[in-house]
Amino acid sequence: MSDVIDAFIAEARAITLADYAGRIGRVPVRGSEWTGPCPTNRGTDGFAVNPGKGVWNCRKCGQGGHDAISLAAHEHGHDLRDRTGFLEACAAVLDRDIPDPAQRETDEERAAREERMADARAKAARQAEAHAEQQNQYRQKAVTKARGLYFNASIVTGAAGRVVRDYLRLRCGAEMDESVFDNIRFDDRHTFWHDEDEFGNPLSLHVGPAMIAPYVDLDGAVTGCHETWIDLGRAPKYRPLLTCPKKGRPLSAKKMQGAKKGSVIPVCGDLSARRWVLAEGIENVAAVAGLEFFRADTFYGAAGDIGNLCGPAEGRERHPTLTMTDKRGRARAVTIPGPLPKAGLAPGECLDVPDHVDDLVLVADGDSEPVETAFAMARAERRLSRPGRAVVTVWPPEGAGDFSELMMEGADA
Ligand SMILES: [Zn+2]
Repeated sequence: MSDVIDAFIAEARAITLADYAGRIGRVPVRGSEWTGPCPTNRGTDGFAVNPGKGVWNCRKCGQGGHDAISLAAHEHGHDLRDRTGFLEACAAVLDRDIPDPAQRETDEERAAREERMADARAKAARQAEAHAEQQNQYRQKAVTKARGLYFNASIVTGAAGRVVRDYLRLRCGAEMDESVFDNIRFDDRHTFWHDEDEFGNPLSLHVGPAMIAPYVDLDGAVTGCHETWIDLGRAPKYRPLLTCPKKGRPLSAKKMQGAKKGSVIPVCGDLSARRWVLAEGIENVAAVAGLEFFRADTFYGAAGDIGNLCGPAEGRERHPTLTMTDKRGRARAVTIPGPLPKAGLAPGECLDVPDHVDDLVLVADGDSEPVETAFAMARAERRLSRPGRAVVTVWPPEGAGDFSELMMEGADA
């Protein structure tokens, strides 16, 4: 390959996706994404470019990428696996013709090219910095909003917040210890916002009682909040039926606001306890707390979701039995996140446990896919193991779903 072609490719690679997207008008009008029709396939949507994140995706073509060259190939229908297609895409990014490979670069041309590339790299660095700053601002704003939601919620005391008391008793099969309501609050008329109107204003889908729980970091500072809408008339989950008016699909009656990664929902007990019991959901850990009669030496916490509890995996593995059928009707292996925790996890990427904890109980969910759950719990065990700390995972009896369901059945009997 010729030097001049190498230089041409290197120069195309130095152009960021944001730069190229800006030049061809794939610029978000509102929000962070430009969306519209795919240039090569039919349809009115499905193609999205996020210049801030530096990523594009086309659902119509099943393609996506992180750089300007792949986006240019999609715009012009070039095949990147083909040498000519790749060079054509580079040409589109640089808005120049592919150079003649036999051509030799003069000293002036080389100097000019090196200057252009230095400019492009400096611009990319500035864009990355601005994006990081913007993300940090979004995060701060979300944390402030979540703190406001939590601290403005009402305290469960006496008859006030009866609905939350009843909800947890029904879901967990035990009357809650009063200390649960040191942290868990309620709002009698809590709005479930979903989607936006034509002016970009949020739409209220439902207003009703909700349990409001905080997310705290390991210093106890509130970083987020967890909302659960309640409908005591709807057994067995006692949550309202919410449906997306546009798409008709059911919506979860739970939401999380602010920063949850690396934080925990303190359901009962103090963070300074040497024994911690952690589960994914509030109801599940509260059910276990009820089974143990709210041990005074224990902190009971909910991670909010399996990702925060178990953390990301180091690669995926083939599921031992599950298969799926592809478009052509062939059976394909299903892969799931493996049992080893991702190497080099950044602090705050998922929930951590302080060093003073020497007895850790992880509560597994029995109502999810068993192998995937087993791998996830294995990741959590490995990730949170320390010399001198006992780590065990407890599983609900087979067929019982989770501890919350188990206790509900017990309560009904
Ligand atoms: Zn497409």
